[in-house]
Amino acid sequence: MKFSTSAILLAAMAGSVSAFAPMNAGRTTVSLAMSTEAAEEARKTSKKNQRLDFMKSDQFYRNGFKEVRTDVEDVMNDQFKSSLVDDLKKNEFVMERDGVKVHLASDFGFCWGVERSIALAYEAVKHFPDRKVHITNELIHNPEVNDNLHEMNVNFIEKTEDGKDFSVVGDKDVVILPAFGASFEEMKLFNEKDVEVVDTTCPWVSKVWNTVDKHQKSGLTSVIHGKYAHEETVATTSFCEDYICVKDMKEAEMVADYILNGGDKEEFLAYFKNAVSEGFDPDTMLDNLGLANQTTMYKKETRAIGQMLQKTMMEKFGPVDADKHYMEFDTICDATQERQDAVHELVENADKLGLDFILVVGGWDSSNTAHLLEIPQNAGVRSFHINRAECISADNTITHRTMSGEIVTEPFILDMNKDVVMGVTSGASTPDAAVQDSLSSIFMLKKLSSE
Ligand code: SF4
Repeated sequence: MKFSTSAILLAAMAGSVSAFAPMNAGRTTVSLAMSTEAAEEARKTSKKNQRLDFMKSDQFYRNGFKEVRTDVEDVMNDQFKSSLVDDLKKNEFVMERDGVKVHLASDFGFCWGVERSIALAYEAVKHFPDRKVHITNELIHNPEVNDNLHEMNVNFIEKTEDGKDFSVVGDKDVVILPAFGASFEEMKLFNEKDVEVVDTTCPWVSKVWNTVDKHQKSGLTSVIHGKYAHEETVATTSFCEDYICVKDMKEAEMVADYILNGGDKEEFLAYFKNAVSEGFDPDTMLDNLGLANQTTMYKKETRAIGQMLQKTMMEKFGPVDADKHYMEFDTICDATQERQDAVHELVENADKLGLDFILVVGGWDSSNTAHLLEIPQNAGVRSFHINRAECISADNTITHRTMSGEIVTEPFILDMNKDVVMGVTSGASTPDAAVQDSLSSIFMLKKLSSE
């Protein structure tokens, strides 16, 4: 029988001699005597408490370095701000130039979590000028920002077939943890090494970790709406005991179907083999669920999955008991939601505004940017996701990432004889400067065509 450390922790925290794994028929109710030593051991071994212990270390920094803050602010203004985007904002988010009319989404671009993460990383480089600085992954999913870090001699930890190669991290080196966090195992490793850790994890991501901590405490299996290989979800699942990741409604429905009707366990586990915790048993671990998500998923889908799971539990356990078997917290971050809402607004007004297309600017690996593309695509509005201004070519083609993840090149402006009307938005990890460069390429293309 598998005992969740969090269930044991619960007993330790209650100071009692009995621990009960609540509400979980699958995991048989547990009653055990616990000595004070065992309770202390359980406290120490809970992943949440170990994480908090790592963060208390003198070599763990979460608040940056004040003495270099002003310098870093100047550098960031220089690299990321855009006079063109500022003009657009001042002009009620509309601009006409060189035969192109631009409607900017009312919310777009850098979120505070990303700005904070970049500031902390840049401050770390300046604060430790003589140290070797590593980063465990891309800081954020934006090519320009990662290029800048390369230029600052930050070493990106290499990913090999066997995982990340941390052998290059030596004593006294500095390790930056990116905006979407680091896994429990990575934090543990750095805690054991003599290194300085600069943690730029967005507080919204930490909020998700707190949510899965609550699931563990309550003996729930975490259902995580997210992509199991995405760095943020990898970190989130590392803090869970029992979990299953579902990337979309289709996968959530497969889980619901198994809850209500059972099914072929081998087949189910084969399908979700990379998306479940070790030793996952769908026959015993799907009776008590808590929903959490990757912060950048498509909000409407998360909500729909939540409603569907709640309905499933009502069907299985009856309306009175369903609440005991299902727990949900909204962990979609505000920035993601606001950017999605703003694209919805553009899409709803596409006919009225006469939009020829909507341009979405942001890293091709950026999950929140990819979701911004889905909104116009699903509404049948012509739209393109580009990661750099260079995607727009002088031969009037555009290279872009489709919803299925393919990178394709196709003709761009369909009628050069008329004015172009376009919408534009950008992901939460995209600097305004990237939007400016992309718009400038379109202005230039249109101008040259009419000369
Ligand atoms: S998109 Fe949300 S979760 Fe991600 S860095 Fe920005 S504020 Fe944080």
